[in-house]
Amino acid sequence: LKDSDPVIENQITVCVRKRPLNTREKNRNEVDVITVPTKNQIIVHEPKHKVDLTKYLDNQHFRFDYVFDETCTNETVYKFTAQPLVKTIFEGGMATCFAYGQTGAGKTHTMGGEFKGKQQNFKNGIYALVATDVFSFLNQPSYKDKNLVVSASFFEIYGKVAYDLLAKKQRLRVLEDGKQVVQVVGLTERMVGKVDDIMDLIRKGSLERTSGQTSANSNSSRSHAVFQIILRKAGGKQLEGKFSLIDLAGNERGADNSKSNKQTRLEGADINKSLLALKECIRALGKKGKHCPFRESILTKILRDSFIGEKSRTCMIALISSSVGSVDHTLNTLRYADRVKEL
Ligand code: ADP
Ligand code: MG
Repeated sequence: LKDSDPVIENQITVCVRKRPLNTREKNRNEVDVITVPTKNQIIVHEPKHKVDLTKYLDNQHFRFDYVFDETCTNETVYKFTAQPLVKTIFEGGMATCFAYGQTGAGKTHTMGGEFKGKQQNFKNGIYALVATDVFSFLNQPSYKDKNLVVSASFFEIYGKVAYDLLAKKQRLRVLEDGKQVVQVVGLTERMVGKVDDIMDLIRKGSLERTSGQTSANSNSSRSHAVFQIILRKAGGKQLEGKFSLIDLAGNERGADNSKSNKQTRLEGADINKSLLALKECIRALGKKGKHCPFRESILTKILRDSFIGEKSRTCMIALISSSVGSVDHTLNTLRYADRVKEL
């Protein structure tokens, strides 16, 4: 990859990944309504009815920086999304990569690693792939002289509260000082000396996220997970760069389902609010004078320092299911992704 790579050239990159039909969808004879004619185009074939009940397909075209079809592996997705951004954090910048989409569309599969049954292969998730490249950069002669140390944090945002995934889901307070510097008080930042150390944290934090859920409603699909790799100058605390990798809460509107209970509706409202604020903050990236409403949600507050500065780079991976049963959610996801990029 060269410096002319679009992910480095543009402050914002938006990609889409289509997942294959799963066994359950195949058993229900659901059809695949998504085609990927080129590396940056996607077509949704939405089944519709005319007034006289004749059926037709409404074909909706979208264009993105990259579109990954169902044959793409995590490694390929990584190569065109997060990988070009690793360099950014060695040069005083902030890099951020989001996985956005409906529950079940493949966010955790992409960020955390492929599933084999209930087991997850953490080695091929974007978290681990970034971590591996960070360590290989660190050993390159041009960066070795910078005397940098690596550390990592892993936390979850559920409703209006953040929980530390490296400290048994301890509640964390998010504070903003007079200079608009946002701090997550008490957040564990673990020093890591090699790839295996960071793999342990990825595994531990990921398992913590899905286990020990306290209430029936507490479900990982309704929380945002934030994994951060931090570079600091050895000896001091001075920040060199930070890579934030975010597995967002499912974007389906649990909120307006009248059957859902009050707790679920409130959660849905919080999720919607944070995803809307996120979209506006990304859109404001690199545009002078455009308002970034970072105070609207905990997520955007915490990521504020990644939304400012010319050296910040953001990549959004929108995950979609290919089945006809998910077509409404898929269109919502693609429209959101489209808006993030739209000038
Ligand atoms: P999400 O985190 O968006 O809710 P998951 O990542 O948990 O969704 O994916 C739901 C299921 O679909 C998992 O069993 C996962 O292995 C499978 N899956 C997701 N993306 C793919 C893909 N690209 N190829 C094969 N299986 C996938
Ligand atoms: Mg998930």
